[in-house]
Amino acid sequence: MGDAGAVGVKVLAVGAHPDDVEFTCAGTLGLLAKRGCTVAIATLSSGDLGSVEWPAPKTAEIRRREAANAAALLGASYRCLEFHDFGIYLDDEANRRVTELLRAVQPDLVFAPSPQDYMADHENTSALVRNACFYASVPHYLTCTDSPAASPPMTRVPALYYCDPVEGKDWFGRPILPSLVVDISETIEIKSQMLACHESQRNWLRRQHGVDQYIEEMKLWAADRGRLIGRPFGEGFRQHLGHAYPHENILSRLLEGWVHKRQ
Ligand SMILES: [Zn+2]
Repeated sequence: MGDAGAVGVKVLAVGAHPDDVEFTCAGTLGLLAKRGCTVAIATLSSGDLGSVEWPAPKTAEIRRREAANAAALLGASYRCLEFHDFGIYLDDEANRRVTELLRAVQPDLVFAPSPQDYMADHENTSALVRNACFYASVPHYLTCTDSPAASPPMTRVPALYYCDPVEGKDWFGRPILPSLVVDISETIEIKSQMLACHESQRNWLRRQHGVDQYIEEMKLWAADRGRLIGRPFGEGFRQHLGHAYPHENILSRLLEGWVHKRQ
């Protein structure tokens, strides 16, 4: 499929917190946007605990703005589902809220956090997105906005890809290797610019984790993934291939020549 085949394809990337999508899949989103896909970015939480300086409501306000600025660099929309940090649980209400997101965007292709990651917000977001991909096309499943304004059910299950977990490791330090790696050498700069929009996190991580090189750490990780395919920078993914989910590798089709499969 050439670029023309990507025009009109809807892509949704969901993170637990603002800046998660930038770390894990923004380079790939940049490639898809350049080829004509419509890109939407969403975070479940506003990232309201991500500051030692400000109270949660002010941090949320700052971070929503930073995330919207980052998305705008891709020409992407941004929405926050207004969960709170450490408040993302796999429960009935959350399933309905995330399903409403899927129905509002009607994506063909979805990116979610890794099913296993370093913290529960990421893992629960992963499961909620996986569920929503399935539930969104069930017509009698009602979302929390059960009203005339609620979005219509989807007509099919979208393709689902999991991003790498933080540092590419499971709970026991064992590597979680991607089944495919996207060559993002062409979009590493826009990924860096998007991450740079999250100025509050640069400062927070500097204090909390002793990481003073917010963008450099991202580039080191992207270079690490790039090494798997012999390219300068990469982003790793695994496609969800469970029953009822599309098995066609739509990402490879949309980004022909840029997606490298691994065994
Ligand atoms: Zn996060």
